[in-house]
Amino acid sequence: MGVITDEPVRADPLSVLHEVYGYPAFRGAQQAIVEHAIAGGDALVLMPTGGGKSLCYQIPAIVRHRAGRGVTVVVSPLIALMHDQVGALDELGVPAAFLNSTLDGDEARRIERELLAGRLVMLYAAPERLLTPRFLAMLDSLHARGKLSAFAIDEAHCVSQWGHDFRAEYLGLSALHERYPSVPRLALTATADAHTRADIVQRLALDDARLFVSSFDRPNIRYTIVEKADPKAQLLRFLRDEHEDDAGIVYCQSRRKVEETAAWLVGEGVPALPYHAGLDADVRRRHQDRFLREDGLVMVATIAFGMGIDKPDVRFVAHLDLPKNIEGYYQETGRAGRDGLPADAWMAYGLQDVVNQRRMIDEGEAGDDYKRLQRDKLDALLGLAEAHDCRRVRLLAYFGEASEACGNCDNCLQPPATWDATEAARKALSCIYRFQQHGGLAFGAGHLIDVLRGKTTDKVRQHGHAQLSTFGIGADISEAQWRGVLRQLIALGHVRAEGEWHTLVLDESARAVLKGEVSLRLRQPSEARRARTERTTRRGAAGKAPPLPLDDEALQRFAALKAWRGEVAKAHNLPAYVVFHDATLAEMARAQPATLEALGS
Ligand code: ADP
Ligand code: ZN
Repeated sequence: MGVITDEPVRADPLSVLHEVYGYPAFRGAQQAIVEHAIAGGDALVLMPTGGGKSLCYQIPAIVRHRAGRGVTVVVSPLIALMHDQVGALDELGVPAAFLNSTLDGDEARRIERELLAGRLVMLYAAPERLLTPRFLAMLDSLHARGKLSAFAIDEAHCVSQWGHDFRAEYLGLSALHERYPSVPRLALTATADAHTRADIVQRLALDDARLFVSSFDRPNIRYTIVEKADPKAQLLRFLRDEHEDDAGIVYCQSRRKVEETAAWLVGEGVPALPYHAGLDADVRRRHQDRFLREDGLVMVATIAFGMGIDKPDVRFVAHLDLPKNIEGYYQETGRAGRDGLPADAWMAYGLQDVVNQRRMIDEGEAGDDYKRLQRDKLDALLGLAEAHDCRRVRLLAYFGEASEACGNCDNCLQPPATWDATEAARKALSCIYRFQQHGGLAFGAGHLIDVLRGKTTDKVRQHGHAQLSTFGIGADISEAQWRGVLRQLIALGHVRAEGEWHTLVLDESARAVLKGEVSLRLRQPSEARRARTERTTRRGAAGKAPPLPLDDEALQRFAALKAWRGEVAKAHNLPAYVVFHDATLAEMARAQPATLEALGS
């Protein structure tokens, strides 16, 4: 203790931003955070994906190292993330390294020597590595010499069991504070609802830390959630109408579906690549590289893809399956539009998604408390999917932020019609009840809807269900509407889908609905709104990138510039956006600079 002096640190963060990173200005809360951290304060930083968290600890690390304060230890949960960060710092000429299981003994020893000699500005390590006796001994030595500058704890939500990405190793991090109470700490995360946030503060003993909460709003991202009818066709229409030649990510739940979807897109003429944990490391690396470097590739992936992917011009993120919770959805969609230009978050979801997710939770190994938490989180996501008001308001509210209707989500742009489904819900529940009474059997959603709509199918005949008092009581309600009702009932837990055949059984809580104590208002299914969708699509196509309003000639110049950029990027083996951002090309297309000087400005 007491090794850290109170002498002011000399070196100016803004010049580091200019000279090392080449950025003209700080973004949002970055400057305040950086200054606080340079002065040695503790902080908890909440910033959405793409907000620029890395600079918040990297610039203080550089400034403090220059001032003789030694190394900043960065805790990071994923090897891939460490590699990317250290690779990027390397390019910037900042001495940084990581210690993890990918290094052989010699390399690890070399880095340890660099560390102890005080040459490293930042050292990345996973928590389990950090807490080994060997590592702590090195930290002790640095600390004794006043060369342990700070700790940065990235992805800090991993410390919380309430978060969506709990890692037991993170719990051990409280030991750092106990051992080195005078060393400042910066904890950073992109996903923390109120509960998780409180947990981070408590578990990392950050009670005195300053809290920096950036707005989670990503105003350039347009949120759209559609009901699944023919998901592939819906996806293709979305890609063709709004994102021809754009780079984007399509998330699917299973590896098989990733492979299938990628192959199918290629067959449809969309340049697509698969990515999932089952592919060879080599193939994965190659696909990731191509996605980063080439223009306009579509990556079809499981959620194994994305962490640490820093490609600013991802124009859309599409979900073909429902994520597990809003945190996941937000993190995944957050990979779109990091450059601040218009981007789309598009998702198709259906009854089967709800059934699958509920079952994965129910049949999982987790304890009851954790299962309840997962169900609550799934419900919140379904609430978002079924919402008939502004999606963004709901999303932000989930992260504790109040806002007003955004004007840039599907519901704001095309307010959906709603209908009162209270009575329909009661009919569905009593029909399930009649099944049980009639033959003691349970049936799936398809058959239930047939009975409600009064369809005389083979199965109806076989089980004598035409005799039920509920046969045909819902003929006036469309199949899509019925699916909406069942999604809600399952999401709310009044009905459970069980066994291999997803047969529907009543939960105790269905009683309240049957008694008419719960009312239900649902969005009108999209079939009834097809005419509107087509209008949206046309508007979407017209509103497609470029980011500036350009006339037809400028648009042609923009396209030509993009093609030229593609060639330059290829020739130099660089990602296209490194050559020029879309926004820069658009500005060139508009202004048509005639001289090098004009271009320079
Ligand atoms: P996060 O970790 O919050 O998801 P990153 O730190 O990866 O975000 O930053 C996202 C992108 O924004 C990166 O490409 C980064 O270089 C860029 N960026 C961050 N801060 C600035 C800034 N002040 N000016 C320009 N670009 C920035
Ligand atoms: Zn909205």
